[in-house]
Amino acid sequence: MGVEKLRRFGNLIATMLMRWRLLLHLAAASVFAQSFAVTPQKISQGEVLRIEGEGAETARMNGRTIRLFPQPGARPLGLMPVPVITKPGVYQLELLDQQETVLQSFSITVLNAHYAKENILMGRSVAALKPSPGEQETVTAFQNEVLPERYWNDHIQLPIPGCVTSPFGVRRFRNGKPTGNFHAGLDQRGAVGTPIQAVAGGVVKIARDFNLHGGTIAIDHGQGLQSIYLHMSKLAAREGDSVKAGDIIGYVGSTGRATGPHLHWAIYVNGVAVNPRQWVNLPPPCGNSRYKGQ
Ligand SMILES: [Zn+2]
Repeated sequence: MGVEKLRRFGNLIATMLMRWRLLLHLAAASVFAQSFAVTPQKISQGEVLRIEGEGAETARMNGRTIRLFPQPGARPLGLMPVPVITKPGVYQLELLDQQETVLQSFSITVLNAHYAKENILMGRSVAALKPSPGEQETVTAFQNEVLPERYWNDHIQLPIPGCVTSPFGVRRFRNGKPTGNFHAGLDQRGAVGTPIQAVAGGVVKIARDFNLHGGTIAIDHGQGLQSIYLHMSKLAAREGDSVKAGDIIGYVGSTGRATGPHLHWAIYVNGVAVNPRQWVNLPPPCGNSRYKGQ
């Protein structure tokens, strides 16, 4: 065989292999095409997409990648948070395999949640509080963690029964000035000393008295779900403790940057603060609160 012939033969084999790989790929994609479910496909800012399907390792949307976890007796499940600050519009959600090949993509419409504005009146000494050394870093490190075990069910419980004094998502002004922040949790009314219950099972990752957050408990519920509870008067759990839903983890207080006794608690999904209304039945707004429910 001449050199030229050999080269052509080589090219032919290479082309055939490429086509074969492409065919295999298409076949694999069509097998998986029916097996994924993403709900809901129209979603408000601050809420969570549920992704189920066999064969996908991760899901990606708007620069964020989350993991899908195997479930006993059910398809693998992943939770994609849509941050409050996401611009309304249409985004592509892609499901990827281990080699990061896109198996399927969905068009997701993010709707404006029309979160309200809220002004907080705060005394000078409370407003001037500075974080404890490492306070923000500790909370951020917690948010970036993902425990592979799952300790939660689809419905979680409220930590205290009190009415809502400030809902999730409101854009916060302090003494009339915009803070640039939104309310990343839910405030519920509670007298000092009211027991606070874990919203789901999990592992206590933070049990500390911080300057800004006050008495703080943070729980990892696994597979991307976490909760945090602030301003406690007293902690009732230690770092490393395993807790069940309903276990008492602390007591309502007014510690840290708080203007009165209440419980601020929040849910994080894969590190992002999300609206608790997808997870719990929200209590009614307090009578004298400007918040009229959501
Ligand atoms: Zn709050």
